[in-house]
Amino acid sequence: MKAFIFLGAPGAGKGTAAARIAEKTNARHVSTGAMLRGILENGASRDPAVKSRMNKGELVPDSMLIDMIGELFKSADSDATLIFDGFPRTVPQAEALEKLAAEHSVEIVKAVSIEVPEEIILKRLGGRQVCPACGAVFHVKTLPSKKEGICDTCGAALVVRNDDTPEAIKNRLVVHAEKTAPLVGWYEKAGKLARADGSGSADDAVEKIMAVM
Ligand code: AMP
Repeated sequence: MKAFIFLGAPGAGKGTAAARIAEKTNARHVSTGAMLRGILENGASRDPAVKSRMNKGELVPDSMLIDMIGELFKSADSDATLIFDGFPRTVPQAEALEKLAAEHSVEIVKAVSIEVPEEIILKRLGGRQVCPACGAVFHVKTLPSKKEGICDTCGAALVVRNDDTPEAIKNRLVVHAEKTAPLVGWYEKAGKLARADGSGSADDAVEKIMAVM
């Protein structure tokens, strides 16, 4: 198995790029945020703190993520290529990922830091709409769906995420700066870092990211 890691602030376009690149390359898009939202929706987490932490834009405990990724490695095809969007988000998660990868013969090929100036990030996060059925991401201004409020891919009604409130957005940016941004240096030290400019259109970002993968 091979794995790529997409790093970047909330709103950098990790999810959109990961979904498109996974489709183009026959890789598997692994969004831990989507996995956690799925766990909450089907009532599989008995811990009420998980929902409240997510809605506030705070991280859920490392141990929960590490268990989820361990299970994923156990069940995934040995010749699969995974694109991680939203994992790891802390240095302990990155350390645990190294250990799990060694145990399951997963090669962490590269961590791609998707770089976008803060003023663009703030504009993007404000109008995000997501498809609850297929996970496609739209934006009222920068990436509108063809039919207002309807997913281009599967036709479901789009929603605004619970953690896209102004308060939670602020929190997610602070959490990212404190806990996740240090991973750029961590992967640089490990000799696995690549950087890609994500400030243009989604197509442009996909091209730049694929060029460094
Ligand atoms: P995302 O969809 O990647 O923006 O993630 C949504 C929310 O899920 C985050 O704000 C966290 O509360 C939680 N989450 C997702 N991935 C992780 C992770 N690797 N570590 C901790 N919490 C996470």
